Amino acid sequence: MLLNDKVAVITGAASARGLGFATARLFAEQGARVAILDLDADAAAAAAAQLGDQHLGLAADVTNEHQVQQAIAEVINRYGRIDVLVNNAGITQPLKLMEIAQNNYDAVLDVSLRGTLLASQAVIPTMRAQGSGSIVCISSVSAQRGGGIFGGPHYSAAKAGVLGLAKAMARELGPDNIRVNAITPGLIQTDITAGKLTDEMRRNILAGIPLNRLGDALDVARAALFLGSDLSSYSTGITLDVNGGMLI
Ligand code: NAD
Repeated sequence: MLLNDKVAVITGAASARGLGFATARLFAEQGARVAILDLDADAAAAAAAQLGDQHLGLAADVTNEHQVQQAIAEVINRYGRIDVLVNNAGITQPLKLMEIAQNNYDAVLDVSLRGTLLASQAVIPTMRAQGSGSIVCISSVSAQRGGGIFGGPHYSAAKAGVLGLAKAMARELGPDNIRVNAITPGLIQTDITAGKLTDEMRRNILAGIPLNRLGDALDVARAALFLGSDLSSYSTGITLDVNGGMLI
């Protein structure tokens, strides 16, 4: 098993069809003890319970420094270490450029970008003390293409910011043996996409995907397992595309 004796924290992982929960399940299958952080305490606890009784579900809004610090303190109190952080929490808003109001901008940037910074800051002292760690940041193909199907320009900006932040963290934390990498998923079937694609939209999208299918949450979870585990021991600062070939 690739994550035996490892402890992983995954943000935004309570949603049953989401990328975070798929990652939590795969990590648990690979031997990790997993802490699921999400907005709602009951949902986080229920998601963790589905994985087994050695996992933890905690309420934490990733945009709230105090809540993030408290949740990470609880994880350390319970397990004594943190080996992997997956910065997965994110929200989209299907707005056009001129429709973006300040509160839209703040909400989208806060969850993806500030959330990634705050959760990373919360685990870094522990990883430094251990002399090892892996941080995986979930960005999006929207960052690379300057747009996606559901996220607006502010979402593209937030996710591009995540790529820059991940590289900067990788540079600064390399000497501490903490690796930081990013994943750029393409169009993955989750609650974000469920029921929102017409047949015509689906046909048009598939025409631009050489693998000729939408992604599955497990496709992203497997990439997170690669980056979170020692399989990627000499990779830091990289961006792993999981998009079916959309950018070829
Ligand atoms: P999802 O909506 O199914 O899950 C997102 C989770 O984040 C939810 O459980 C939600 O409660 C949680 N969350 C939202 N705001 C939060 C906050 N402030 N603090 C803590 N948790 C919060 O979404 P998903 O499709 O699984 O997406 C997961 C990540 O992958 C997101 O960052 C998303 O932008 C990114 N992504 C998704 C796709 C896709 O096609 N689904 C593509 C590229 C990138």
